[in-house]
Amino acid sequence: MIYGVGMLGPTLFEYGSAWQKQRFLPDIFNGDTFWCQGFSEPNSGSDLASLGCKAQLDGNEYVVNGSKIWTSEAHIADWIFGLFRTSSEGRKQLGITFLLISLSTPGITVEPLLLFEGTHEVNQVFFDNVRVPKSHQVGAQGEGWTIGKYLLGLERFGTAEVSRTKASLERLRQIAYAEIPGGTRLIDDVTFANRFFQLETSLHALEMTERRFLLGDDGSESLGAEASILKVRGTEIQSDVFRLTAEAGAHFAPIDLPRNIDDGQANLPYTTGSEARNYFNYRKTPIYSGSNEIQRNIVAKAKLGL
Ligand SMILES: Cc1cc2nc3c(=O)[nH]c(=O)nc-3n(C[C@H](O)[C@H](O)[C@H](O)COP(=O)(O)OP(=O)(O)OC[C@H]3O[C@@H](n4cnc5c(N)ncnc54)[C@H](O)[C@@H]3O)c2cc1C
Repeated sequence: MIYGVGMLGPTLFEYGSAWQKQRFLPDIFNGDTFWCQGFSEPNSGSDLASLGCKAQLDGNEYVVNGSKIWTSEAHIADWIFGLFRTSSEGRKQLGITFLLISLSTPGITVEPLLLFEGTHEVNQVFFDNVRVPKSHQVGAQGEGWTIGKYLLGLERFGTAEVSRTKASLERLRQIAYAEIPGGTRLIDDVTFANRFFQLETSLHALEMTERRFLLGDDGSESLGAEASILKVRGTEIQSDVFRLTAEAGAHFAPIDLPRNIDDGQANLPYTTGSEARNYFNYRKTPIYSGSNEIQRNIVAKAKLGL
C-alpha cells in the first residue's frame, strides 16, 4: 500500500456524490489512475488541522494556492486528493474541504525530496492559482476534516501491514536456517533465536488482535483508537523484523553468501546493503499516517481518558 492512497476508494464510496463515484471509482478499482495524498504541509504535520494551503471559491471553481509536502509518489501520480483551507473563521477543523485535483492542471509543480538512503519517493507539490471544478469537492464545503479522519482511520489499519511483515519474517527465517559452508546457522545463536521467536510471537498476537477488531461489530470501519493501536504495534514489529534482517546480513558479511541460499526455492537476492537500505527506508512507517507518538496520544485520550 502506498501511504493511504488505497483508502480513497472506500472514502469516495462513503462520501462521494453519485457523479464522483461513477467518474472516479471504476478507474481506481481497475488501477487505471494512480493517486497521491495531499494532507501534510511544511508547517502542518502532526497538527494537521492547522493546514493553510488555500482553496478559494470563484464561480464554479476553486482557486488553489500553497503547497503540500512529503507527498508520496506525486512524481508518478495522475491525481492528488487532499485537504484544503476554504475558511479561516471559527474552529480550524471546520474550514477544511476535501478536493480531488488532476496533477496535469496548469499551475502545479512537483519537486522531488530525496530520502537519506537515496530513494525518490516523496515530493513537495506547489499550487499556483490552480483551478479546480467545484464538482471535485468531496462532501460539503468544510466537511474535509471529518472525511480526512475517516480515510486516516482506514489507512492506519493498513499501515500495520501484518501480511507484509509475515512475508518479511518468512524471508528472515530462511536466512536464519540457511546452512552456510564453513559458517554456523544463525538460528543456533541463542540470542538471535530469542529475538526471532519473540518477534514471531508478537506478530502472531498482532494478527489475532487485528482479526478480532476486523470481526467486531462494523469491521474496519468501526476502528477508532483501535486503528492507532494496530498502527503503533504493527510498525514497531515491522521495524524490528527489518532491523534483525539487516543484522543477519552483518553476520554473514565476511562470508561469500550464496545468492540462492534456500536451495533453489526462492532465489533470494540477499545482500547486506539492500537489507540495510530496506531497514532505513521503513523508518518511515512509524512517522507517516500520523506519527506513533500522536497515535499514543489518541489511545491515551480515547481509552484511558487522559
Ligand atoms: C516517507 C514518508 C512519506 C509520507 N507520505 C505522505 C503523503 O503521501 N501524504 C501526506 O500528506 N503526508 C505524507 N507524509 C507526512 C507524514 O504524515 C508526516 O511526516 C507526519 O504526520 C509527521 O508530521 P511532521 O513531519 O510535520 O512532523 P511534526 O509534526 O513536526 O513532528 C515532529 C516530531 O514531534 C512529535 N510530535 C509532534 N506533536 C506531538 C505531540 N502533540 N505529542 C507528542 N509528540 C509530538 C512527532 O511524533 C514527531 O516525532 C509522509 C512522511 C514520510 C516520512
